[in-house]
Amino acid sequence: MFQVGQEIIAIRTHIQNYFKKGDIFLVKGVRDCGCSCNDFLVDIGYRIKDNYQTCGKCHELFFHRDNIGWVGNKYFVPVEEGFAEMVLEELRVGEKELIRR
Ligand SMILES: [Zn+2]
Repeated sequence: MFQVGQEIIAIRTHIQNYFKKGDIFLVKGVRDCGCSCNDFLVDIGYRIKDNYQTCGKCHELFFHRDNIGWVGNKYFVPVEEGFAEMVLEELRVGEKELIRR
């Protein structure tokens, strides 16, 4: 589970374009989604008008009254891990280019 105030980076673009891969956020809040998959959700500052959302993992509806656009944690890793992952990805791309030559 992430901590409030922790820096996290998106490792993929959100399905409804709330954010893009590589965007960095400070965690504003964390909650259980309360559905059967037992996932946890992150508040990155996105706000919506509806007071219900569908869980991105099990697709159950969950309700809230805070207008927060809660996002599944699967989109994020802590920033340090995200950078390490991206550097590794670049190295792999570099290797492929070397092999091609
Ligand atoms: Zn769920």
